[in-house]
Amino acid sequence: MSKIEWTDATWNPVVGCEVLSAGCTNCYAMAMANRLAGMKATKSLYGDTVKKVNGKAVWSGVVKENQAVLNKPYRWRKPRKIFVNSMSDLFHEDVSTHFIQQVWRVMKETPQHTYQILTKRPERMRDILLGFIDEVLPNVWLGTSVENHKVSHRIDALRQVPAAVRFISFEPLIGAVGQIDLSDIHWAIIGGESGPNARPCKVFWISALRRSCRIGGVRVFVKQLGANYIGYENQPVKLKCKKGAKMSEWPASLRVQDTPRVRSNSVLMPSVGFKE
Ligand code: SF4
Repeated sequence: MSKIEWTDATWNPVVGCEVLSAGCTNCYAMAMANRLAGMKATKSLYGDTVKKVNGKAVWSGVVKENQAVLNKPYRWRKPRKIFVNSMSDLFHEDVSTHFIQQVWRVMKETPQHTYQILTKRPERMRDILLGFIDEVLPNVWLGTSVENHKVSHRIDALRQVPAAVRFISFEPLIGAVGQIDLSDIHWAIIGGESGPNARPCKVFWISALRRSCRIGGVRVFVKQLGANYIGYENQPVKLKCKKGAKMSEWPASLRVQDTPRVRSNSVLMPSVGFKE
């Protein structure tokens, strides 16, 4: 089972990744892969995916397709919400189109589950889906991460992806996102960074996103305010919960944890870019 608030379980058919933008700096998966690389049972899988630079563990650039866990969802009989690749990015350039097609086959053949795929490489996701996967699965939600305005262009690529649900993870939110077009987007997760090196997250950034989502009709799940939360006085606010995940400590206007509206047997098509 997963500790992530918006999912039930994780499934990691890809191992290893590479830092792409500022949102990756304190990558949880990189630290976890380093821990797994040091354990006897998981060393052979994770060992070459990380290396040390100035004493710090970082991705080595090795990305592997893990056939051994590809069929895992078949064994889960009860329906679950499954976060695909919490430890990597399914659309990393080194993951083959053929392997991604195999992942799609598993998701298609296990319709009892709902799959959530989050990528920082939505352009590749769009190109593969439009070029090589000719079926939209109603049980697959596709999303991209946007940590600040510098990467808000990812939303435009996501909009062109045919999907049952298109979602954005504004986490770790480390800067203002600014004006964004949220048309054809169904769900947004918002969260400040956690951990000892957490960068500041301002309440104004969260409330601006909350407002944009309300205007755009996008459902919102505020996950946490982060470990370095800056309140309305523009001053750090000390919260009892280390990662700011306790709703009772939040401003009332941010207390929202909605999930997307999903109509069974219906697929929400993008208004642009989809080839029939
Ligand atoms: S894309 Fe995701 S898994 Fe890969 S380095 Fe960035 S945060 Fe980590």
